Amino acid sequence: AWARVRGRLKADLGDEVFSCWFAGMNVEQIEGGTVWLSVPSRFLKTWISTHYRDKLAALWQAEGPAYRKVEVSVRSAMRAKVETPARFAAPEAARPASAPAPRAAVPLRPVADAASARLFDDISSPLDPRYTFENFVEGASNRLALAAARQVADGSASGVKFNPLYIHSSVGQGKTHLLQALTHRLKAEHPEMRVLYLTAEHFMYRFVQSLQTQSALAFKEALRTIDLLVIDDMQFLHGKQIQQEFCHTVNTLIDGARQVIVAADRPPVELETMDERVRSRLSGGLLIEIGAPDAATRRSIIERRIALTAQHMPGFSVPDDVIDFIVRNVTTSGRDLEGAVTRLAGHNQLTGLTLSLTMAETTLKDLIRVTDTRRVKIEDIQRVVSKHYNVSKQDLLSSRRTRSIVWPRQIAMYLAKSLTLRSLPEIGRRFGGRDHTTVLHAVRKVEEMIGSDEALTQEIEVLKRMLEA
Ligand code: ADP
Ligand code: MG
Repeated sequence: AWARVRGRLKADLGDEVFSCWFAGMNVEQIEGGTVWLSVPSRFLKTWISTHYRDKLAALWQAEGPAYRKVEVSVRSAMRAKVETPARFAAPEAARPASAPAPRAAVPLRPVADAASARLFDDISSPLDPRYTFENFVEGASNRLALAAARQVADGSASGVKFNPLYIHSSVGQGKTHLLQALTHRLKAEHPEMRVLYLTAEHFMYRFVQSLQTQSALAFKEALRTIDLLVIDDMQFLHGKQIQQEFCHTVNTLIDGARQVIVAADRPPVELETMDERVRSRLSGGLLIEIGAPDAATRRSIIERRIALTAQHMPGFSVPDDVIDFIVRNVTTSGRDLEGAVTRLAGHNQLTGLTLSLTMAETTLKDLIRVTDTRRVKIEDIQRVVSKHYNVSKQDLLSSRRTRSIVWPRQIAMYLAKSLTLRSLPEIGRRFGGRDHTTVLHAVRKVEEMIGSDEALTQEIEVLKRMLEA
């Protein structure tokens, strides 16, 4: 019966998902209608119980009346330890002969501690010393992310609910700043802790390098002995083998109650090239989005930047009306605000002229144009689309599925995704409470059509121009 249940699971979930979660599952005992299953770690137990308990029960019940209930437990520590290396490999006997052999798991061999520590220091990405908590401006849009990062830095975020901590936002909203701030803080206050900050690209680079120098084992071992793993720009983690290695690393760390923090430019569901296992793993912790800064936050970021610039440019100052101008017009991100100040400083230094509003308007023109494009509002999109296709806004947001309404709705959602910085879930909410997958489907569909339908491409261009005008 177990072989059949396994076969069904594998068929339903796909080899990848199956081997990540169920390969290490054993039947311990079947007694009084209860099937006792065991897995090697607590984390797997929690995960399987919350995500797959019903499915498991249903599959077993279909095998006959002798299997009424399913219980999942953690194998004893001794056995779990022995079996950890083979966690992702199915036991030979239980695997149907026709199924492909699972990927060979990398055996975890203990390496000398000093060696792994040295390697570990060696693989960290460089940190920017200015990215500290002191230099980070708190605002409504980043308050939650900042609080979570602080808690991790204080070591007070132990427990499952923060693990992994996943922070996402569009570019320039301070993710890297926050991640590095907490890395700095921990390194300074807890030098005994092994904190590893890596950009996804560095992670890939180091991984490939370790394969080439035949030190892959030492690299993997080092990864699995750290206390805190910070991965920045997760959207750049490409490659199946690397994603699998990442998945294993995260599994091991979370099982060992080590913290994992990830930042990316989109939520996990939108990491389209990512292995499904990695996506679901990343969705399982705390997700926090950083939005665009509000006016008060923008002002503080500008003022802080001016103060920092004045440290190496004595006498540099910006008149109030110019500050107001930037606050009002550069609304996208911390990065653009900093760019504005840097540009004014550069101009000031080159020309020796005092800063004026007129000069700011010219110097910052393109920054502001970018800002304008992104300031398209979802309401405007809905208004323009419903007018253009002669559909009422009410219908647009309704659940009606008439083709004459569905298509404009999909175009409107596509426009919302490409002209605003809103996430898929947010767009879904604004379109009558739809699911993010519905939005994603619409976006993809329109994108596909754009490639093949000349008239439609023009039509969408027109709509875009109307909105950006
Ligand atoms: P992201 O990683 O989200 O793309 P960064 O952390 O690289 O953004 O931020 C871009 C720049 O803007 C950095 O120089 C950063 O210091 C600055 N910045 C963004 N948000 C803030 C903030 N809330 N306070 C201070 N600086 C900020
Ligand atoms: Mg960044």
